Amino acid sequence: MPGLPEADRLRLEAFLEQARENTNTYLGYPAAKTLDYGLLKSCLDLPLNNVGDPFSSGTWKVDSHEFEREVLAFFADLLRAPSDDWWGYVTNGGTEGNLYGLYLARELYPKGMVYFSQDTHYSVSKNVHFLGMRHIMIRSQENGEIDYEDLEATLRIHRDVPPIIFANIGTTMTEARDDIRRIREMMDRMAIPNYYIHSDAAMTGVIAPFLESPPPYNFADGADSVSISGHKFLGSPIPCGIVMARKRHVDRIARSIAYIGNLDTTVTGSRNGLTPLILWQLIRSLGREGLQRRVEEALQLTAYAEQRLSAAGVAVWRNPEAITLVFPSPSQALIDKWQLASAQGISHLIMVPGVTRALLDRFIDELVSSQESAQHA
Ligand SMILES: *Cc1c(COP(=O)(O)O)cnc(C)c1O
Repeated sequence: MPGLPEADRLRLEAFLEQARENTNTYLGYPAAKTLDYGLLKSCLDLPLNNVGDPFSSGTWKVDSHEFEREVLAFFADLLRAPSDDWWGYVTNGGTEGNLYGLYLARELYPKGMVYFSQDTHYSVSKNVHFLGMRHIMIRSQENGEIDYEDLEATLRIHRDVPPIIFANIGTTMTEARDDIRRIREMMDRMAIPNYYIHSDAAMTGVIAPFLESPPPYNFADGADSVSISGHKFLGSPIPCGIVMARKRHVDRIARSIAYIGNLDTTVTGSRNGLTPLILWQLIRSLGREGLQRRVEEALQLTAYAEQRLSAAGVAVWRNPEAITLVFPSPSQALIDKWQLASAQGISHLIMVPGVTRALLDRFIDELVSSQESAQHA
C-alpha cells in the first residue's frame, strides 16, 4: 500500500490520542479497559474471514475456525451446555446473538409470542420487528427485574400461543436478572408444554458463573439459547460476542437450507476472523481462574464505591452481587466528563476490568463537591 500523506497521518495520531483520553475517563459504560493484544497485530496483514459454520470446513482456508471452536467449547462449559447438544459461533456482538436466539425460536414456534420486560435492551424491538414476531412488553419491578405477576397474568391470556421468553441476565441500566427457573416453574404451573427461553446475558453472562449465588440463566437452568458480548466485561477491543444454542434447534434451520448444499447457519455471510483470536487469547491467558479473579476484583471495587457514595449521602443502590451502581443522575457536566449512561433520572457506574480505585475516587470527589456547591447556591 502507498504511504499515508503526512497531514492524514497527523490527523490519525490526534484521533488516537483523543480516543486514549476518552478511554481513560469513562465510568458509565460496560467496556473493559484492560486490553493488550499486540501479539495479534500481524493478523491485520491477512484477509482473515470466518465465513460459514465454524464446525464445518469449506474451500476457503484463511480462517480462524479452529480457534473459534476452542472459544465456543470454553463458553459451552461456562454456560453448562449439554455436551452433545450445543452449537454456537462468534458474532458481531450481543445484538446479533439476540437476533439469532429469536430467529431459532421463531423457526421452532412460528406463531409464538415474544415476552420481554420494559427494561430490556433497546435492540429487542428492532429484532422482533426484523423477524415479524408478535410480542408483548411486561412490566418491570423497581429493581429492573421482570414483574413475574404481570408475566403470569399475561401468559394466561395467551395460553394457546407458545411463549418465547426473552430474559435479561443483567439489564443494561441496573444489571437486574430475570429468573428463568422461576419462569419455567410458572410454565409448569400453567401446564404450558411448548416454550422457548433466550438469555440475553450481554455483560453478566461471563460474570454470573463466578458469583456466590449465580442467577439461573444457563442451559442447565433451562435456557434454549444464550447471547454474550465479547467487548463488555471480557474486553475485546473490537465489538464481538458469543451466541450459543441447543444444537437440535440449529439443526432445524441448517436442515432447511441443506438442499442448496450449504450449511448457512450464521446471520452474516463473511464473519470476523480476528475476534475469535482475540477471545481465544483472552480465555487462554486468563482461564477460569483469571476471570474469577476479575469478577472478585470488580465486586470489591463496587462495594468500595458504594460505601463511599452512601457515606457522602448519595442515594446509591445495586442489585445483589452486581457490579453496576445506580444513583440519581448528577449534573450534565459530570455526565459528559465521565461518559455516564443516563436515562429517566438515573445514571450508573460499571466496575469493569480497568476501572481503578483512584479513578473512582476522582469521580466521587467531583460528584460530592458538585452536590455541595449546588446546596450552597
Ligand atoms: C449491551 C447489551 C446488548 C447489546 O449488545 P451489543 O454487544 O452492544 O450488541 C444487549 N442486551 C444487553 C442487556 C446489553 O447490556
